[in-house]
This record gives sequence, C-alpha cells and structure tokens, in this order.
Amino acid sequence: MSFQYINQKICICLATLILLSGCSSTHQQEEYSLKLNRQRVQISQNSQIDYLSYIVGSDEDKENVHYKPIDSSKLGTYQVEYINTNSQGQQTRKTLTIDIVKMYKNHIYSPQNIQPTIIENPEDITALVNKTHQIPDGWKPGDLVNVVDSHQQLRKEAAQAYKDFYLAAQERGIKCYAISGYRTNETQSLYWNRQVQIRGEEYASQYSAYPGRSEHQLGLAIDVSNQLTGDRLSEKVADSAIGKFIISDGYKYGFILRYPKDKVSITNYGYEPWHMRYVGKKLAKELHDNELTLEEYMEKEQ
Ligand SMILES: [Zn+2]
Repeated sequence: MSFQYINQKICICLATLILLSGCSSTHQQEEYSLKLNRQRVQISQNSQIDYLSYIVGSDEDKENVHYKPIDSSKLGTYQVEYINTNSQGQQTRKTLTIDIVKMYKNHIYSPQNIQPTIIENPEDITALVNKTHQIPDGWKPGDLVNVVDSHQQLRKEAAQAYKDFYLAAQERGIKCYAISGYRTNETQSLYWNRQVQIRGEEYASQYSAYPGRSEHQLGLAIDVSNQLTGDRLSEKVADSAIGKFIISDGYKYGFILRYPKDKVSITNYGYEPWHMRYVGKKLAKELHDNELTLEEYMEKEQ
C-alpha cells in the first residue's frame, strides 16, 4: 500500500466523519415540535374520535404524543390536552376543543349543549359569530338606524352600505325587500324556540341560530327577498334578480352571502341565498375574490 493510498483513505474517513456529525446536528435541530391542525372540532355523539388525525407530523412524530381520550357518548364541550415529550425530556402541550354534538346530515349539528367561545370584539364589523362563537351577554350595538326601505334596523355603517346596495339594485330595475335586520336576544330566542317547536331541532339547526349566536344580533346581517309577502325566505330567492345581484355585486358594497350552497360543511348552516352579512368593502372583496367564508378566512389569519 503506497503512502498516497493510505492518505486518500484517511481523507475519505475524515469526510465521512464530518458528514456524519453534520447529519446528527441537523437531527437535533429538527426535533419534532407538537402542532395541531385544528383548534376546535365537532364530533357526532357516540362516534369514534381519531385523535391522531389532528396532529401535524409523521406517524413517528406522533408516537411520543400522549392524550387522555374523552367519552363521546355525552353531549358537551371538552378540552383534550396533547403532550409531546422530546428526547431531552422537555414537554410541549397543545389543547384541542372537542364538541360532542347531535349531528344531522350534511355537517349540520345542533348548537344545544355546546359551550361557546365568547367573542371579545362584537363591535368589530368583521366579528365572527357562529354555532361556536357567541356574543357577550347583554351586548347590544349602540348605533342602530332604520334601513332605507323598512323599519328593520342595522348598524349605521351597514345601513348606509345597504342603502347604496338597494339603490344600485333599484337602478337596474331589481326588486329588493328588507325582511329581517337587527334582532335582540329575546327575539332570537323566540325564533329559535318557535322553529324547534314547529319544525324540530334538525330544521332549526339548519336555518336558525341559537340565541346569542346569530349575526342578526350584531346589527350587521340582513335577510332580503324579491317579494314582500308569501314564501319570502326560500331557495327561490337564489333564482331571482336580487339573489343573483347579491352574488355578483354585494361585495362592492361590503356584503357577503354568508351561507353559500357549496360551503354548508364549513358554515354548518343550510344554504341561505337571502342572508347578507356586512363585513366592509375590503374584506368582502377579499372573501369574494378567493371564494372564502368568514370561517375559512379567520382560520387562515390565525
Ligand atoms: Zn338571516
């Protein structure tokens, strides 16, 4: 063996050593850090919960994550804590809120028994209110005014936007009637209870909000129709001129169609071609251009 050959061997060995040590330090840097893909989920009563599906990471990463399963037979809201312990013994904890709900078809679930998140920004025009997000008790908008075409009320900014929308529709010869604007908690309670009594909880869960969790209580939502009497708020609104105008032009005035047909699994409400929500022109355009619901937008922003 020549001296040169031995020298070469040493070089290769050294290179391998450097490579190996480089590798192991990269491994340390990439130590798994626990992350969840959701903050809150709704699970049908008595069904199996796939706890690992809410963890971001490989199967190997998930091996060191522990949690305490909950009893899915009891309706209600639960917190499940996931704990990951790394090779140094350090722990990371993440909490998932699980609502065990009475689930009907198409992701529609009953809002009863759910412990909602109380929102902190009810006066914000972009406030998110839905089956899991509730307006604080006793909160009421301070700047309600009548809308242009009826005694229905909206917050001042939303009422002005509705006036612009209404006049633009009128200019095109499109009929627009304001059917329902701001509602008090008492009115919403009456609506919800009446729907449950007359048409049952499944129907109510599809088209009516639980008291405290209606956008109408924010003074930022308005139901409109192409007719003033009869079957005013039906899917027929979708085929009417005003129903089409909401979709094509509503965003230009700051309104979104809040419960679209193809987003039922996200909004967890039935299709409501009549329910417009004011969010301001900027956000309305962004949601319109990207075909996003308020839920999807808020999740993206987190
Ligand atoms: Zn409505």
